[in-house]
Amino acid sequence: MVVNGRAYRLPAAPVVGVCLDGCDERYFEAALAGGDLPAVRRMERGGVRTRAGGALPSFTNVNNVSLVTGVPPSVHGISGNFFLDPETGETVMMNDPRFLRVETLLAGAARAGRRVAVVTAKEKLRRLLSDGVQGIAVSTEFLDQARPETHGVGDLPALLGRPTPPIYSADASLAVLDLGIRLLETDRADFLYLSLTDYIQHRHSPAEPEAISFIQEVDRRLGRLLDLGAVLGATADHGMNAKHGPDGTPRVLYLETLLPEHFGDGARVVLPITDPYVVHHGALGACAGVYLAEPRQAAAVAEFLRTLPGITDALPRADAARRLELPADRIGDVVVLSDAATVLGRRPEDHDLSVLEGPLRSHGGRDEATVPFLLSRPLNGEWPHLRNFDLFAALLQ
Ligand SMILES: [Zn+2]
Repeated sequence: MVVNGRAYRLPAAPVVGVCLDGCDERYFEAALAGGDLPAVRRMERGGVRTRAGGALPSFTNVNNVSLVTGVPPSVHGISGNFFLDPETGETVMMNDPRFLRVETLLAGAARAGRRVAVVTAKEKLRRLLSDGVQGIAVSTEFLDQARPETHGVGDLPALLGRPTPPIYSADASLAVLDLGIRLLETDRADFLYLSLTDYIQHRHSPAEPEAISFIQEVDRRLGRLLDLGAVLGATADHGMNAKHGPDGTPRVLYLETLLPEHFGDGARVVLPITDPYVVHHGALGACAGVYLAEPRQAAAVAEFLRTLPGITDALPRADAARRLELPADRIGDVVVLSDAATVLGRRPEDHDLSVLEGPLRSHGGRDEATVPFLLSRPLNGEWPHLRNFDLFAALLQ
């Protein structure tokens, strides 16, 4: 099949692409140090275990859409979980398929006659990722709402063998993998995209027992998918870093407080991590878009921001679009990225940190944009700059 100008070879075997949301490589390393991960080892031996670069900003919607389209945000148009729509001047969630500028590989595979299933943990991703897909599209968040007429399959608690898991739980993710397994076992699908949630990674650092047992449970399910004969690939949308000091206080640069001190009022900061799952991050991530009352100040604002400790990049719009592969019309006058230990906020009063269930762990910048990449088959030829969104190209060589 040909999608977005790239040719893909569809194998006879079932194809399964997995997005391990927020799964930094350190989670695998810690779990391997604590015991075996047989499926990861199996893929390493018979295929590939390496690292890949992700799309920036290192957020969920941006990278999930990159994974299912095979192209960067400058082409597919999704620049965050949340953005300022230039057509309306309103800030809105980027969950709607109307924001997509290209076809997905999943829609392409369905068009090519494959029985496609999209299973997500977060409902916010389901509609976006299943755009144009003739097939199955369900989320474990709204498991019991799936109907054959609207979701391609119904009666999911019976198929899964358990009720809807809470969205803030390990099982929200494990149920995604279990549903994928059940869809293969019952021969309902043969081309699957399974996208988990990063609740565990936001909540627990890699060496905590909850994180290790989660990775072991993921591994068992990857093993089952391999046993079912799937051509299997797994990567992550982004990594995860602790963004707090030794006392647990988040390290935040509040840009709407900082900028008026130097450039006057009128700067509006949009945080593209913003999504309905505030318990994960309190809307604090490592990327911000700054909209200026005077866009011609962009170069000066960027220069000032680059002098601040914790900032890795502050780029005027055109530079950001070119160097970070972003859609120029859907980012701020200045795009700002922060480092492994720092997040970006608006003003302190805009962030309710009491919703966090523990110390802040978050993502969005360069330091969360290198992720694990696992494949059940070898890579043919040279892949000098492997990206997480080469996942389906690697599966469909
Ligand atoms: Zn994510």
